Amino acid sequence: MSDYSPLETLIRKQIKANGPMPVSRYMQICLTDPQYGYYLKRDPLGRDGDFITAPEVSQMFGELVGLWAASVWHAMGMPAEVKFIELGPGRGTMMADALRAVKILPAFREAISVHLVEKSPTLREKQRDKLADAAHVEWYEQIEDVPEGPAIILANEFFDALPVHQAVRKDSGWHERTIEIDGDDMLAFTTAPNPIPRFDVLLPPVVRASPPGAIFEWRPDNEIITLARRVRDQGGAALIIDYGHVRSDAGETFQAVARHNYTNPLRNAGLADLTAHVDFQALARAAEDVGARAHGPVEQGVFLKSLGIETRAQALMKNATEESQKLTTAGLARLTGPSPEGMGSLFKVLGISHPAIKTLAALSDQEAK
Ligand code: SAH
Repeated sequence: MSDYSPLETLIRKQIKANGPMPVSRYMQICLTDPQYGYYLKRDPLGRDGDFITAPEVSQMFGELVGLWAASVWHAMGMPAEVKFIELGPGRGTMMADALRAVKILPAFREAISVHLVEKSPTLREKQRDKLADAAHVEWYEQIEDVPEGPAIILANEFFDALPVHQAVRKDSGWHERTIEIDGDDMLAFTTAPNPIPRFDVLLPPVVRASPPGAIFEWRPDNEIITLARRVRDQGGAALIIDYGHVRSDAGETFQAVARHNYTNPLRNAGLADLTAHVDFQALARAAEDVGARAHGPVEQGVFLKSLGIETRAQALMKNATEESQKLTTAGLARLTGPSPEGMGSLFKVLGISHPAIKTLAALSDQEAK
């Protein structure tokens, strides 16, 4: 009957029944619908998939994150038990590399238990295989479900996958951006007929003056607030790494990527990755509002260099084959170098800790602009 993906058929049904759908709802269905959601049935990572993340670029990334975690454990007063929690662990590569790196610190390694928050059964399977020899692992649907206790929490490219709302500035105010079926029977952007009441009051001051046509994106604060309350009440710290901006601002970053290329986010629902940049100022503010301490953000390149990635690269290259030396050099450039090929400045690193932890390794010296 139709050439639509099964998910687009479902989305069209919902729009026909309930009217235009907010962008955030569309993003949520596309990514995590239990039956057809993008993440649920596939492994999107790697050269043969849709995109590559830092842990898949080089083992150095996870190793340094592991050593960062060890320094946090020291700052926490070396508790006998610490939960090592990762949100959205993908293939489990970062956790595997981190656990291998901290073998040189047996007291820390013995204190760790591993807890993964992952919605995708396919990726849970990959994580199980990757970590089989390294650790006993527990899985959860959401961060609220992880048992209590002091924790070190990691999230690489997790927040960009959480749904964003969009609002469009008009003369009459800010209107929520929605998705309709247009006159040509295609999914298309539109806006809710009525402005969002008192929306201006909630906006960061720089955004209030935006001209008509401007778009503002925001995420609900649930995940960051849960995480911040957890480290505030039970001790520990979180490391959030993602692409995004240091200051809240207007602008559209909602995007679709498939096979390493941008595509139209309103076509092929459920078959492409949908993301939007992370507003690090909004994350830091939400965490501080509930009484946790924010550190940074700093650029990923600065963070990795201050943890010693260049020294680690040299150590890996010693006595290595020419082929693997080339891979290490390329990995170093990709992780720390400038855009567009490098992730060093587009990606930012934010720490969130218990308020008594005044500094976190590599996050205090230099703030990103
Ligand atoms: N951190 C990994 C994978 C990033 S892709 C890496 O850097 O390689 C995003 C990850 O978050 C995937 O594992 C995906 O299944 C998971 N994910 C996306 N939305 C989620 C949600 N709402 N709850 C839990 N996990 C989610």
